[in-house]
Amino acid sequence: MSETQPTDALTLSGTPRFDDDGLIPAICQDAVDGSVLMLAWMNVDALERTLTTRRAWFWSRSRAELWEKGATSGNALAVHDVRLDCDQDALLVMVSPAGPSCHTGARTCWGDDAGPLLTRLAGTIESRRGADPETSYVARLLGADRSLAASKVAEESAEVLDAVPGSDHQVEEAADVLFHLFALLARDGVDPLRVLDVLAQREGLPPRWLRDDA
Ligand SMILES: [Zn+2]
Repeated sequence: MSETQPTDALTLSGTPRFDDDGLIPAICQDAVDGSVLMLAWMNVDALERTLTTRRAWFWSRSRAELWEKGATSGNALAVHDVRLDCDQDALLVMVSPAGPSCHTGARTCWGDDAGPLLTRLAGTIESRRGADPETSYVARLLGADRSLAASKVAEESAEVLDAVPGSDHQVEEAADVLFHLFALLARDGVDPLRVLDVLAQREGLPPRWLRDDA
């Protein structure tokens, strides 16, 4: 992924306000799916290196040294944008992670399942694989017979078009389409979140890191 990263330095609009220890908190967010991945601290050197290398650098308060995220683990953060908050005393770092962001091996420092709604939905669908089809509707959708999931996508899509335009009912049917579309993709062996990757690429972002690729 790094070969396709733009290499020109980023610029920060505004002047960061470092605290009395010369540090500023940096919240790292997945640029594609919106997951909050980790919180770390930057001093002026770490911020400068992050902006020029477009890879995340931090200041370790416990070791009192600069460190590059992923230098030893390989789980680097490619940086797309760095923004200051309204008070100029907190950074938002928009990144593409190359692997788990937490040293525990979890996707985020708040766990694997702390992602935004669509990410959690995909995880919930996957968790039903192998469940008893008698008791799990999702397990039935994921089953060997493709016709159930396929017909539900077609049926729910038609219901979106049949609903009163602009009505709450139309929105509910659209939610049903998304749910069943995710289930159909999962049933077909495709990570439904690859849809986000395609949308992200159309916005000029690289694909989201996929757990399966790690
Ligand atoms: Zn962590």
